[in-house]
Amino acid sequence: MQTFRTLAHAAILLTAAAIALAPLRSIAEAPPRVLADIAPVHSLAAQVMAGTGRPDLLLGRGADPHHFQLRPSQARAIKSADLIFMIGPELTPWLDEVLRRLGAGERAVPLLHTQGTLLLKAGEGERAGPDPHAWLDPRNAGVWVDHMAQRLARADPERRAAYAANAAAAKTRLAELESAVSARLEALGDTPVIVQHQGYAYFARRFSVNIVAAISDSEARPPGARHMRSLREMIESGEVACVFAEEGHDPGLAESLTAGTDAALLSLPDPAGSAIPPGPDHYEALLLALADAFAACAGAAQEPE
Ligand SMILES: [Zn+2]
Repeated sequence: MQTFRTLAHAAILLTAAAIALAPLRSIAEAPPRVLADIAPVHSLAAQVMAGTGRPDLLLGRGADPHHFQLRPSQARAIKSADLIFMIGPELTPWLDEVLRRLGAGERAVPLLHTQGTLLLKAGEGERAGPDPHAWLDPRNAGVWVDHMAQRLARADPERRAAYAANAAAAKTRLAELESAVSARLEALGDTPVIVQHQGYAYFARRFSVNIVAAISDSEARPPGARHMRSLREMIESGEVACVFAEEGHDPGLAESLTAGTDAALLSLPDPAGSAIPPGPDHYEALLLALADAFAACAGAAQEPE
């Protein structure tokens, strides 16, 4: 009897303690501080966090993920983040090094390594590895919003339902976006094009854009003279309808390839959409802008000289 009363008493005390703590806990617990590497990832994270908090963006307007120097304010943002959503060391080896130096590796979520991500290969021989530009396939974005919701829920169980509902809404939006992009690209068909840097392979595969070559590789290294000569030969033989320079980059190489040929010189947003305002709508805006830019080649290719 004594034991029973003690246990009952303990239970009452525990219940009282739980009731006393519950409201305090929900007031005290702010949502996790989230940092995203590039604007498209930031956009997906912002959709998953809608109504709970806002992610920060590491590489803002005009920043090129391939060539980058970290500022002290950005090092501080990395230090204070609870979760870092990033493409992975394949895109930003410099960031991987910084994360290790700051001891932030545990908080980093490399999306390329998420199970279910559809990967393409880039490079040859010793340089072969996954092409990092995987965000340009909206189905990868769909895999990642679920993964973001799970990681957020683990860090912040109270808002689990909100993250899950937001991820579901984001996936509906991504499916609609995929249809809209396909519709805009219909007129392009299999028109052969060349792009400035090999950063559009995921988009090309998902939406059947016929990219026959890139001027520079997936790490945006400058091309060699032999590669430039072979591209020029392709263009002179009439195998290429359009050459796309990349917005925010020197169009000199694309200009030199098309000069005096029938190929049209057009421009394309960079794969990270660095000129498109960041926010929840960025991802959609980037894919639609890419669709429109590629589709412009259909018109250019039909124009009589
Ligand atoms: Zn790139």
